[in-house]
Amino acid sequence: MKEGTRTTNGRGRLYDSVVDTVGDTPCVRVNNLTPDHATIYVKAEFFNPAASVKDRLALGIIEAAERSGALEPGQTVVEATSGNTGIGLAMVCAARGYPLVVTMAESFSIERRKLMRFLGAKVVLTPRELKGYGMYQKAKELAEANGWFLAQQFETEANADIHEATTAREIMADFEGQRLDYFVTGYGTGGTLTGIGRVLREARPELKIILSEPANAQLVGSGEAQQRNAAHEPIESHPAFEPHPIQGWTPDFIPWVLQEALDSSFVDELIPVAGEVGMEWARKLAQREGIFTGVSGGSTLAVAMQVAEKAPQGSVLLAMLPDTGERYLSTPLFDGIEADMDEAEIELMRSTPGFQMD
Ligand code: PMP
Repeated sequence: MKEGTRTTNGRGRLYDSVVDTVGDTPCVRVNNLTPDHATIYVKAEFFNPAASVKDRLALGIIEAAERSGALEPGQTVVEATSGNTGIGLAMVCAARGYPLVVTMAESFSIERRKLMRFLGAKVVLTPRELKGYGMYQKAKELAEANGWFLAQQFETEANADIHEATTAREIMADFEGQRLDYFVTGYGTGGTLTGIGRVLREARPELKIILSEPANAQLVGSGEAQQRNAAHEPIESHPAFEPHPIQGWTPDFIPWVLQEALDSSFVDELIPVAGEVGMEWARKLAQREGIFTGVSGGSTLAVAMQVAEKAPQGSVLLAMLPDTGERYLSTPLFDGIEADMDEAEIELMRSTPGFQMD
């Protein structure tokens, strides 16, 4: 081995199943974008086997249902999901031998549908105008008609529980003996926030938890309560909801799983962010740091940057990056990223004589 060559040692174990590789994602320092007086780390959830934070939830829901007997061997699983939960569930269900049916509004990106189908799931589309509520009602209808197991990511206790048991513990372990002043996240179901809040509020009372939501869909910020039925399911779209470009964040209702975090005052500050700003930061993170995340990750970093600017000298922040940017190839995140050569590339090609395209 040449001196100075980087070496790796393997993980020191063999894995019995892909599901055992879920979690233990790295916290990585942002080096080129941060102001000098603060340090930002990102928790890179794209290191999960199906490349998003929702692999944790998928595994948590399936294993909790196996333990309780709510899910029997070979029983079909059904869920309404904008994508990452479906992709995570498809991975877990394939590994564990459960058929999976996903309902999804037609407005979400094509690659998400294709990924779930590639992983063996059936994807049933619902009309764009019926929003999150429509896809959820369809999943319920299918579950009731067929006796399927409804995963219920927005209501199930298994959601925040798995983040308490994995994500939060990882943060505690990785920052042991280290300063951590702010934790920044958005919400889809609120599972990440609630699970982490349960642990960090107790263990690190001085840490500030910052929540974000889309600037044009400030459900929490509006202060208006969500109407729900006895099963804690939303009975109508929240009045503050508008369609927004941060896929995976803020459905058209305040989820029950998130409500625990709001009621427990886990949120110290709520900072809205515009989707376009989030996309800008996702591009910067890719081009200046080599860290490749989606729109929600870019939006979380945008908020972390805003907090860092005003934070005291020496502050340390941690921002969640929920998924990979590869999930957004057909979306506005990739606007301006062309398949053909631009002028600068053509000039480079012409700058030497050989091997030129016509
Ligand atoms: N970002 C993306 C891309 C997601 O898919 C999700 C989950 N829907 C989130 C953020 C939010 O995570 P949580 O559901 O734990 O609030």
